[in-house]
Amino acid sequence: MVKYIFVTGGVLSSVGKGILTSSIGKMLQTRSLKVTVIKIDPYVNVDAGTMNPYMHGEVYVTDDGGETDLDLGWYERFLDLNLRKENNITTGLVYRAVIEKERRGDFLGRCVQIVPHVTDEIKHRIRRVAKASDVDVVLTEVGGTVGDIEGLPFLEAIRQMRLEEGYENTLYVHVALVPILDVTKEMKTKPLQHSVNELRRIGIQPDIIVARSPEMIDAEALRKIALFGTIPENAVFCSYNVESIYQVPVILDDQGMGKFVCKRLSFLEQKKDFKEWKEFVDAVLNPEHEVNIALVGKYAGLSDSYVSMNEALRHGGATCKAKVCITHIEAEKFEENQKNIEALKNFDGIFVPYGFGPRGTEGKLKAIRFARENDVPFLGICYGFQLAVIEFARNICGLKDASSTEINPNSPYSVIDLMPEQRGIAIKGATMRLGAHKIIIEPNTMAHTLYKNAEIYERHRHRFEVNLDYFGTLKENGLVFSGKSTDGRRMETLELPDRYFFFASQFHGEFKSRPGKPDPEYYGFIKACLDRKLGRHKPEFQK
Ligand code: GLN
Repeated sequence: MVKYIFVTGGVLSSVGKGILTSSIGKMLQTRSLKVTVIKIDPYVNVDAGTMNPYMHGEVYVTDDGGETDLDLGWYERFLDLNLRKENNITTGLVYRAVIEKERRGDFLGRCVQIVPHVTDEIKHRIRRVAKASDVDVVLTEVGGTVGDIEGLPFLEAIRQMRLEEGYENTLYVHVALVPILDVTKEMKTKPLQHSVNELRRIGIQPDIIVARSPEMIDAEALRKIALFGTIPENAVFCSYNVESIYQVPVILDDQGMGKFVCKRLSFLEQKKDFKEWKEFVDAVLNPEHEVNIALVGKYAGLSDSYVSMNEALRHGGATCKAKVCITHIEAEKFEENQKNIEALKNFDGIFVPYGFGPRGTEGKLKAIRFARENDVPFLGICYGFQLAVIEFARNICGLKDASSTEINPNSPYSVIDLMPEQRGIAIKGATMRLGAHKIIIEPNTMAHTLYKNAEIYERHRHRFEVNLDYFGTLKENGLVFSGKSTDGRRMETLELPDRYFFFASQFHGEFKSRPGKPDPEYYGFIKACLDRKLGRHKPEFQK
């Protein structure tokens, strides 16, 4: 019998529901329980693929090509899972399914309503994940804040699930902000009390309340939260500010949360094993070195736009015992004033992330040129890979104004062009080349030394690719395409063997990076940054 944990949030969004949900999963996993996680996003978009990363954070890509909410990334990283599209449920998906059924006549003439038809569809989607996953516990995080209009059908559905699945098989966790007033330093539980009331109005009584507060809550705040929340004091926990997000499962488990959850769901007392996780956390908290990375991007103002990349860089750092300091730089800065590029002298490595559209591309090209000419370690991902090809074509192959058709459709040399299967596609949602594809790695290359494998599977999200018409020119001038699609026609990794570390990939290694198991290209990059900084020889991943 599968058990269900539902996580809701109150007072405001961004209280760390995703991290809390992942942390509960971790506490269960350390007790040998198998878990999976669902994210509910009450917005009307069918998936996150069409959403602007600048407003909503990055789009996370699953193995099966789902374009999902970034919280799935936290679940995968914390729990070392490979989730599927179905693990992200949105209002758009639910309504689309209900309306399709209505059009087919499946409802046999009945009036189609939010209760029961929409709520049934939501429950069906949650249970479908449970069935497909062979787990002990399904955690479901309801996005947004309790009280949002869009969230109501989802809360109604999870309310019904207690009736249908039984008390001992369902658990409601509510997390809300407990601010501390600047002047009096007082912890204020009133907003939390209101959000618990709002949840109760819908018919859900939380079993556990987590106070999200800058500091550990005091006895008085704890007493109030328990009293007004109608739960025992040992069901109140506090997620306070910590140096690293990866500490959260540990601090909550230390407060007894893991034990409480297991008892409440009638799991037999199990010995827990936090060793590996704590080792990783220790490595993060006690670095011996520091590397400074310039992330030259277009969405630099919102670090959530690059959250998986930031984390993958840090995973690489933890394995090298190095703290990774990432400075997000708006690429356009380098277009405004030639002198601005000098700022890159202060960094140990230059990283050019994913991106779309022309804005900022000339600035990124300048940063790549700087990296190549000054032999500063460089890693480019997706757009960063494509731009590295353009930079090489322009400045080494002499193809003046070489570009991508995405940037300049009239370029004389479109070294990056739309993939053939993308031509004529008008619909934007879920139509890119998505998800995991097999890549063949050439022997005796840096890619091979990094991945230690002749075949890898990596996740993708793009419409453009290297134009094979220029393959010969690029190769003759020294650009090595070390990873290719199985038919050999799609370029997947590039490297410059005469540089200290110059590597880029069409795929996104960051989506498979895990704490303690960093993705090879990110690890290699950070290692190279550190080695070069410490004056070591070129790393061993060069031939
Ligand atoms: N805009 C480029 C493309 O569509 C790169 C995409 C990306 O960086 N994810 O191919």
